[in-house]
Amino acid sequence: MRGELHAHTCGHTHHDLAGLVAGHPRERRRFPSTVFCWRAGDRVVLFDTGYAPQPWDTGLTGNLYRRLLPPHLPPGQDVAERVDPSTVTHVVLSHLHPDHVGGLRHFPHATLVLHGEQLATLASPRLRDGLLRGLLPSWFGEAVRDRAVVVDAFTPGPWGLATHDLFGDGRYLLLDLPGHARGHLGALVEGRALLAGDAAWGRDLLPAAERLRALPRWITHDGAAHLATSRLLLRAEGGGARLLFAHDEHPEGVDLLA
Ligand SMILES: [Zn+2]
Repeated sequence: MRGELHAHTCGHTHHDLAGLVAGHPRERRRFPSTVFCWRAGDRVVLFDTGYAPQPWDTGLTGNLYRRLLPPHLPPGQDVAERVDPSTVTHVVLSHLHPDHVGGLRHFPHATLVLHGEQLATLASPRLRDGLLRGLLPSWFGEAVRDRAVVVDAFTPGPWGLATHDLFGDGRYLLLDLPGHARGHLGALVEGRALLAGDAAWGRDLLPAAERLRALPRWITHDGAAHLATSRLLLRAEGGGARLLFAHDEHPEGVDLLA
């Protein structure tokens, strides 16, 4: 039986597109931080966790981050108010940027799913990795060490994507989508919905990967891999995948697999 996939907006930021992409007209855009929730039988799998409420205890790096990308978490948008944490069995982290890990603290009992290269960021973060340790719950290190699914190996899948079959039944394929951050993960859900994380700032900006300005280029872990990932995603879309980026606006209360 098919599962259901829902999008939940868990906070947002604003940015001027002219500051992100060379040649783009000025346009102040709202970038929501989306949490995708897949429910199928006993499994409830979250993809990312959105923003944390203020204040953040994240020091100078956190101050810098908040100046560049001011976070907003309106009332009612904390991930724990969108999804009942006690029902969640798995939390996949696309990467460790603040707008993706902010709600982690609600899920001490879920199985975490991470890319092996995210561990390198945890072990020795650089400023441009944007890791704010103050947003990670106290139990996070222990959970990663003792009970997380850490994915290091991928096998060739549809449309040239590198995949790891999370449950061994083909329904939730983790995708190696390198470029944006170390160990950036996506997911192909039930062969159709492709959770693309931050592989682009939005679907319309996917073809603009080559025109990113200095700041977004600086926080991009690997520019060449980022371009290659953009091309793969366009190919997947051409083959019938529905691309769902973290920072696009998605309809709520709608099953994205229907
Ligand atoms: Zn990011």
